[in-house]
Order: sequence, then C-alpha cells, then structure tokens
Amino acid sequence: MTEISKKTINGKTVLITGASRGIGKSLAEIFAKEGYHLVMLCHNSLDRMWEDAGKLSREYNVNVSCYATDVSDSAEVARLFRDLDSHHVTIDILINNAGISYVGLLQDMTDEDWDEVIRTNLSGAFYTTRAVLPSMIARKEGRILNISSVWGNVGASTEVAYSASKGGLNAFTRALAKEVAPSGISVNAIACGYIDTAMNSHLSYEEKESLFNEIPSGRPGTPDEVAEFVYQIATSSKYLTGQVIRFDGGWI
Ligand code: NDP
Repeated sequence: MTEISKKTINGKTVLITGASRGIGKSLAEIFAKEGYHLVMLCHNSLDRMWEDAGKLSREYNVNVSCYATDVSDSAEVARLFRDLDSHHVTIDILINNAGISYVGLLQDMTDEDWDEVIRTNLSGAFYTTRAVLPSMIARKEGRILNISSVWGNVGASTEVAYSASKGGLNAFTRALAKEVAPSGISVNAIACGYIDTAMNSHLSYEEKESLFNEIPSGRPGTPDEVAEFVYQIATSSKYLTGQVIRFDGGWI
C-alpha cells in the first residue's frame, strides 16, 4: 500500500545516459525502485538494456523507454528529444553518465581518438542538457547530474583527453549551475574515484591491487554505491548546486 502511494505521488521521469551497464545500470535500478519512470540510453547494447528495462518496469511498475542514441552525435540527440516530445515525455532529472576512457600517451592520440573522448564525455552532456533545459526552465523545476571523475580535478598520466573532458564537465557544471539557479534548476557533478565496472577491465590483477592499496578505503567503489549517492543528491535541497563532489573512498 505504501509503495503504491509513493509511486502515485512521484511519477517523475529520469533520463539516464549510459544505462546499459556499470554505474548507469545501477542508477536505473535505484530510480525505478523509488518509483521514477525511466528513459534509458546506450550506444550499442540496446538488446541487453531492453531486457533489464523490462525487468525494472515489471518489478517496480514504472514506464521505461530505451534508446540507442550516440550522445556524441548532436543530430541523434536532437532526434531522440523529438521522439520524446512526440510521446509527451517530460524529463525531471537528467543524468549525464555515458562516458568512455582512452588510455595511452597523448603524443600517440589521433584527432579521431581525441574527438571521440571529448564529444562523448563533454559535448554529449551539452547536447542532452540543451535539450532538457527549455522545459525545465518553463516549469522552474529540474535536476541535472553529471557523472565526472577525480581525474577531472587532478589529471591522470596517460589519460589526458579523459582528464580534460571531465575537467571540462566540472567547469560546465559550475557555470551552468549559476546560469540556471534563478530558474529553479540544480546542477551538480559527482567526481568518482575507482569504481568497479567494465571501464577498468583493461587493468591487470596486479595493477588493480596496487591501486586499491592507494585508496584509504582499501577497495573500489561499487556502481550501487555511486547510484545511491547520486539518488541522495538528486532528491536533496536544490540549494545544493554548482558542486563537484568527490566520491572516491578518500583516494584523491
Ligand atoms: P561502462 O564502460 O561500464 O559503461 C559506459 C556506458 O556509457 C555504457 O552504457 C555505454 O553504452 C555508454 N556509452 C558509451 N559511449 C556512448 C555514446 N557515445 N553514446 C551513448 N552511450 C554511450 O562505464 P562506467 O559505468 O564505469 O562509467 C559511467 C560514467 O562514470 C562514465 O562517464 C565514466 O567516465 C564515469 N566514471 C567511471 C569511473 C570508473 O572507475 N568506472 C571512475 C570515474 C568516472 P554501450 O553499452 O552501448 O556501449
């Protein structure tokens, strides 16, 4: 009974990019559990994401739409929002989570490598945010959360493009927060440390162990821990805005 009334009261919609696995998948689960309708985006894993989406929809009685949308492509993002508009879907919370890493020396990066990282991790957030803002501003209501990285704060050797993209996302967060706070919209970023997902699968067992020894908490964070924290930020006072909050086990 309590569950049903909570969902009736809520009925809000969250759009999560990169929802097919890792942190995005955990985000979808926690928001569905709390009665939010979902718009889930991925790039190439639509079939797998559909399966997860079906389970969430059935288990938590929420609407879930799935799209394979390349967030680095402005035209694809515009097409997605035209489709959402045509179905009268309004986004209450946007979570820019899709991201890719590139590990290697800067001098070996091609223009294409560089562009792909910047367009996915930074321009993607611009394209989706630009699309949700008019409706949020008109309603004076909205939350934008950007999943960033501690490398955006301090930089990482062999991850220069990634660090630059996340540093840009941090600055995007702070600047946009100032621009849209008068319209009742909060914008924050979570700068994650090492989170146990496929993004780190290139590391050897020994490399992982040595990293865990550097982290005061002695272990990686889990996608569920990130999702729970993001949920707390998304549902806290909108007076919390313009922040880049580290979530890294005390690492950096
Ligand atoms: P994963 O590699 O597990 O998942 C990445 C997700 O992003 C997938 O759903 C993938 O979709 C999607 N994606 C990638 N490129 C695009 C694109 N062009 N268009 C749309 N979707 C895309 O990563 P994590 O869960 O680890 O990372 C999520 C976020 O957290 C990223 O922004 C990452 O930078 C950040 N982060 C992660 C850390 C970590 O240690 N894991 C640390 C700090 C930050 P598909 O399955 O279709 O490819």
